[in-house]
Amino acid sequence: MKVKETYLFRLPHGKDLLEALLEECHRRGIKVGFISVIGAVKEATIGYYDQKEREYRSRRLPQPLEITSCTGNVSLKEGEAFIHLHILLSDRDGRTYGGHLLSPTPVFAAEAWVVELEGPPPERRFDGTTGLFLWR
Ligand code: ZN
Repeated sequence: MKVKETYLFRLPHGKDLLEALLEECHRRGIKVGFISVIGAVKEATIGYYDQKEREYRSRRLPQPLEITSCTGNVSLKEGEAFIHLHILLSDRDGRTYGGHLLSPTPVFAAEAWVVELEGPPPERRFDGTTGLFLWR
């Protein structure tokens, strides 16, 4: 796939991180691409996929945290843009927490870089082996 366009923008204070990114993708018509975010959140919710139980375990982190790294992608799920992000967060003592980004994760301040790609977007379908919606 080729790069179609790149975007740098700030995410609104107090807005959910995933929701804010999805709104921007809808607004700009982005259906496939790469996403990177740095900044800080007021608190966070992260997930861990329990491979044996085949379900996400979510964990609330109820404190201000730095987004030291957050990367992922946008592709299609049931015909709509769908964002999949993993996040690494650090607290005031430098302890880090990482996982699959979930909501609610309200933004304190965040800068996003989205690289829109051109070509047919990968589409997520249910995968019986893992219990996840994966690219075909
Ligand atoms: Zn994930």
